[in-house]
Amino acid sequence: MIACPECDALQQEPRRVPRGTSVRCWRCRTVLIHESRKSIDYVFSLIVAGTVLFLIGNAFPLVSLEAQGNGVTTTLFGAVLHMWQQEMHLVSGLVLITTIVAPAFDLAAMLYLTMGVLRVDQGRSSAMPPWSARVLRAVQAVRPWGMLEVFMLGALVSIVKLGQMAAVVVGPALYSIGALILVLAAANSAFNPREVWSRLPVRRDDEAAA
Ligand SMILES: [Zn+2]
Repeated sequence: MIACPECDALQQEPRRVPRGTSVRCWRCRTVLIHESRKSIDYVFSLIVAGTVLFLIGNAFPLVSLEAQGNGVTTTLFGAVLHMWQQEMHLVSGLVLITTIVAPAFDLAAMLYLTMGVLRVDQGRSSAMPPWSARVLRAVQAVRPWGMLEVFMLGALVSIVKLGQMAAVVVGPALYSIGALILVLAAANSAFNPREVWSRLPVRRDDEAAA
């Protein structure tokens, strides 16, 4: 059964909803389920692209600075480490969580879930991988902590400001993170949690009691 979020009317949820169609409440016509035209392969390819961009964003230099003959190059993790050494522990921890840990968890969890859906659809597996429901709930809780765009804005402002004092060279990682922001947003909006829920086994009351 599914309850309408607007008028609370209880109604039977259809087992399969064709792509590009919506299910509306029988009483108030609120959209209850919207099946996007985008397939799970589309989401999967975006997640794979995002993972590659994330790895480039972490492996290559973010920016290089050169002033009075001294050159400094830093990566994303190098910046976190540097802030920690400068006794800015709270900021360093926040940057680590919002730019590395949360996006990495988001990408890994989405990869795990979309691969599970694809394996079930292709008949290579009869059930979703273990912990799918927990991973799905966890990713929705962690996702708001991914703030790559805030970091990007801060980085761009500092680059412009520093540009007056030193020669700043933007590294490949910054372009990569810029592209990752767009890819991650596209993947998250195209991903439909129902793709996972509808493939999970229905738990019966007697099983739950056991
Ligand atoms: Zn309704």
